[in-house]
Amino acid sequence: MTIIQKTVQEIGYGTAMTPYRLVPLMLAGALLAAQAPPLEQLKQEALERIEARRDLTQQIVDSIFSFAELGFQEFETSAYLTALLEKQGFQVARGVAGMPTAFVASWGSGKPVIGFMADIDGRPETSQKPGVPYHAPLIPQGPGHGEGHNAHQAVNVTAALVVKELMERYKIPGTLRVYPGVAEELLASRTYMVLAGLFRDVDAVLSCHISSDFGTAYGPAGSGLVSTEYTFLGRSAHSAGAPWAGRSALDAVELMNVGWNYRREHLRPEHRSHYVIVEGGDQPNVVPPRARVWYFFRELDYDRIRELHEIGTRIAAAAAQMTDTTMSERVLAATWPGHFNRPMAEALYANIRRVGMPRWSEADQQLARAAQAELKAKLVGLRTEIPELRPPSEARGGGGSDDIAEVSWNVPTVVLRFPGNIPGMIGHHWSSGIAMATPIAHKGATAGAKAQALTALDLLLDAELLTKAKEYFAEQTRQTQWKSLIPEGTLPPIHLNREKMERFRPELRKLRYDPGRYKSYLEQLGVAYPPPAAPQPQ
Ligand SMILES: [Zn+2]
Repeated sequence: MTIIQKTVQEIGYGTAMTPYRLVPLMLAGALLAAQAPPLEQLKQEALERIEARRDLTQQIVDSIFSFAELGFQEFETSAYLTALLEKQGFQVARGVAGMPTAFVASWGSGKPVIGFMADIDGRPETSQKPGVPYHAPLIPQGPGHGEGHNAHQAVNVTAALVVKELMERYKIPGTLRVYPGVAEELLASRTYMVLAGLFRDVDAVLSCHISSDFGTAYGPAGSGLVSTEYTFLGRSAHSAGAPWAGRSALDAVELMNVGWNYRREHLRPEHRSHYVIVEGGDQPNVVPPRARVWYFFRELDYDRIRELHEIGTRIAAAAAQMTDTTMSERVLAATWPGHFNRPMAEALYANIRRVGMPRWSEADQQLARAAQAELKAKLVGLRTEIPELRPPSEARGGGGSDDIAEVSWNVPTVVLRFPGNIPGMIGHHWSSGIAMATPIAHKGATAGAKAQALTALDLLLDAELLTKAKEYFAEQTRQTQWKSLIPEGTLPPIHLNREKMERFRPELRKLRYDPGRYKSYLEQLGVAYPPPAAPQPQ
């Protein structure tokens, strides 16, 4: 128990035994939470209130799953969440930082300011009927929640609403903010949100991500990147009649890729780079006058990411020279590698331990094992143990990125991993959507909301924790200060996914979850739960 907690408790119960040296702190405590019961009691009440909101949490999980919207096109998701938050008394600013689907929902006043942030977007071609342990798209080639971001806001919104109720009831000062992670699959919103100043007055950010584990981490994490597009312009001609009159933009793209792939051997093993050809011409008998290639350049720190990006741009320029075409570049997004706050992670981890793993039913385990059998993964079912909180590993490999990292360099930030998915599923894949609108995800989101709410209460009422979090952050940023990797004036690439999403909207509309008529999305889709039995281990 911290001094502030003690003080709050003592004031609350009017004891005359308060040590003299605590008086100044007592006054601070009195201002902090004049009528609040002890933190312990508040936490108990938060757990009960989250338990009582299981239906709401389930509805958010299922609704966002059914919207299945891709990055920057999360219009239904954003409208749904902002309406819900507004109804609960949050003030909502929409379309922030130049992104129509981004918002900031705010409640309360004064310090501390606690932010809840989590991704909302889906992935292309990961449409999947929930609860079905084999590939069964709801819409062939359609978008889906093949990473499980649909459960993220269910965690954060449930937590924020319950903490708000407690703050209201016990007149606890402070401000709560709810932010969406727009277009996380493109790593493309957080830089713009930071640059727009949306976190300037925020004291701490609680983020969360779906997992098959219940845990968190601190210290450096993941890689950073620049996401950028090179467009080549050449000259069109009849490919057979007068090919010498043409200059192929596609040749430039291919030569750039060949050049990059030769260079790859001479880059650090920690680096990662990949590309897709977005535009490559119209048909073979026309020399392609225009072609476009999209690159991700990943490395482990600002200078190395920049260097990698510069090499890429030099190779692109050289490819243009070789082909007598012209090259232009548009940087789409960037992010640093993450760095997460240790005192906050420790507080969060204690709360994760307290909440414990969800109680999985035999039906949940049956779905998990069936999906694992289908994916030829280990038949381990769902996890039942909470892993240790480990120090960051010394050897950092390459690996993925997440633009929550941008926030982590601007505000003390921690990411909760909550257990709503099946171990052994493939990331960025339809299999990661199987559990995402089933009781597995619902239970995981409730457990996540509990851990998140308890940690928010710690941050609101335990001044010592916030001080330690800020000290850690000051040390983290003492020699390494965040600066953006995107050129000044770059606008968020909100055009991405637009056409793809427009194509699927009519189909998706028919599949919208209706919580007024159905208790769950599984019920609406007529999916049996549990699914047929999985084969037993050999
Ligand atoms: Zn994600």
